[in-house]
Amino acid sequence: MNGSSFDGLGTNGVFRMETIVNEKNIFDFLSDAEKPSGAAVEAVLEKGLLKKGLSLEEVALLVNTTDKKLLQKMFAAASRIKNDIYGERLVLFAPLYVSDHCINDCEYCNFHERNRGLERRKLTQEELAAETKCLIDMGHKRVLVEFGEDPERISTNYICEAIRTIYSVKSGGGNIRRINVNIAAATTEVYKRLKAEHIGTYQLFQETYHRRTYENVHKGGPKADYERQITAHCRAFEAGIDDLGIGVLFGLYDWRFEVMALLAHSQWMEKNLGVGPHTISVPRFCPAPSVKYEPEHVVSDGDFLKLIAILRIAVPYTGMILSTRETPDIRAKAFKLGISQASAASVTTPGGYSKIPLLCKEGRGEKMSRVSQFETHDQRPLNEVVEAALSDGLIPSFCTACYRKNRTGGAFMGIAKEGGIHTFCSPNALLTFAEYMEDYADADLKKKGRALVKLYLNRIPDTRLKEETKKRMAQITAGSRDLFF
Ligand code: SAM
Ligand code: SF4
Repeated sequence: MNGSSFDGLGTNGVFRMETIVNEKNIFDFLSDAEKPSGAAVEAVLEKGLLKKGLSLEEVALLVNTTDKKLLQKMFAAASRIKNDIYGERLVLFAPLYVSDHCINDCEYCNFHERNRGLERRKLTQEELAAETKCLIDMGHKRVLVEFGEDPERISTNYICEAIRTIYSVKSGGGNIRRINVNIAAATTEVYKRLKAEHIGTYQLFQETYHRRTYENVHKGGPKADYERQITAHCRAFEAGIDDLGIGVLFGLYDWRFEVMALLAHSQWMEKNLGVGPHTISVPRFCPAPSVKYEPEHVVSDGDFLKLIAILRIAVPYTGMILSTRETPDIRAKAFKLGISQASAASVTTPGGYSKIPLLCKEGRGEKMSRVSQFETHDQRPLNEVVEAALSDGLIPSFCTACYRKNRTGGAFMGIAKEGGIHTFCSPNALLTFAEYMEDYADADLKKKGRALVKLYLNRIPDTRLKEETKKRMAQITAGSRDLFF
C-alpha cells in the first residue's frame, strides 16, 4: 500500500511519514532534557495542571525525571488531572476474539504466521452469538472485537457480519451497545464499511514507533509495512471514523521514546485531522505460548506507572485504556493516575468465553492456554473487578451514550474540554452502573454500590440534572433499561 490514497491529509497537501513521528527530533529532545532541573520539571507540572497539554520538549523533561520527590509531584499532578476531568468513573469493557487466523509474523504474538501448531479458529455466527451472550450475562455492554489479519479467510464481509451478529444478541435485559474494533490496518473502503456498521472506536497500535525495531519484530506479512500501520488512522478518519485509538506495545523499544512518539502522533492528528486520538492504549508485553521473543526493553512497574502519569498530564482529554495484561495491584494504581477505561474478565482466545463452561458461568478470565494470544495477569470475574473499583471510590461505568448521541471525534473533545464529561458522563456512569446492579450484582455488591451511587449522585452540581438522574435511577429500579443523557 502506498501513501497516495491519503494525500491531502498531510501538511501542505502532501502526506509524508516523517511528519507524523520524526525519530531524530525525539532523540534530540530527549538528550537536550537529559538532566532536568527541579525548577524546570515543576514548571512543566504547573503548566500540566492547566489541562492544556504539553509540548514534546516539556514531556522530554518529565520522561527524564528520576528524583523521587519530583516523581511524587508528577503522580499527584496526574491524579489531580484525572479527577478533574474524569472524576470517579471507570469505563469497563471486554475484548471479544473473533478469529486468530493471521498471515503476519509479529514476533511477540502467539497468532504469528509461523505458529503452524495452532489450530486456528474463525467463529461461526452462532459461536459468536454464544460468546456475546456470555459477555452480556456477565454484565458487559461494550466489547472490543479482535481479529488476526488474513484477508482470504477473514473477509470484510465476515467482519461486518460479525459486528451485526454481536449487536443483534439480546440476553436478559442486556445487549452489547458499543463495539470498538481492533483490526489490522486497512483501506479507506474497508473503514467505510466498518463505519456503516456503527462501530465505536477504531483502535490500532503502532506497536513501536521506532522504525528499526518495528522492522525487526515484523518480518513477514502486510503488517511489516511500517508506513501502512502509521497511516491507518488517517484512512479511517477519511472514511468518517473520528473516534480513533492509538497505542504502543511497551517492551519492544525504550518506553521514553515511545511516550514521546505517542505524543507526536497525537499532536499530528490534532493538527492534521482536527482531532487527536480518542484513546491511547498502554499494553505491556506478556509471555505467550509459542513466543520465544524476549523484550529488550522490559518496562518496570515503576516506569510503567510513570509513563501513564506522563501521558495523563501531556494529553489530558484523551481516554487511556488498560487491559488485563496487568495485575490487579498495578491496575488499581494506574486507575488513580489516569486510566479511564479498562477491560475485565478477558480471555484472549476465539471462542474462549463459551468454550470453557466455567468462564461463562463465573465470568472468570483465563490466564493462558496453548491457544491464547498471550498471558493475562488479572483473571478476576467482572463482579470482583467492580467490587475492587467501588472499594477505591470508583464508579464502574458501562456507558455507551456518546457515540449513540453523535458525540464523537471533535464534538466529544469540544464537550470534554468544556467540562462536559462531568455533565454527561458522570450521570451516565451512575445510570449504567445502577442497571448493572439491578441485573447482575449480589446483595453485598448492591449494598456497597448503592452507598457510593448515593454519594456521587448528591455531588452532581447542577440541580436539574441531579433531579433528572434521580428520576431515571428510579425508572431503572422499576425495570427501565438503557437510559442515558
Ligand atoms: N491483529 C490486529 C493487530 O495486530 O493490530 C489486532 C488485534 S491484536 C489481537 C491486539 C494487540 O495485541 C496487538 O496490537 C498487540 O499490541 C497485542 N499483543 C500481541 N501479542 C502480545 C503479547 N505477547 N503481549 C501483550 N500484547 C500483545
Ligand atoms: Fe496477527 Fe495481530 Fe498477532 Fe500480529 S499481533 S500476529 S497481526 S494477531
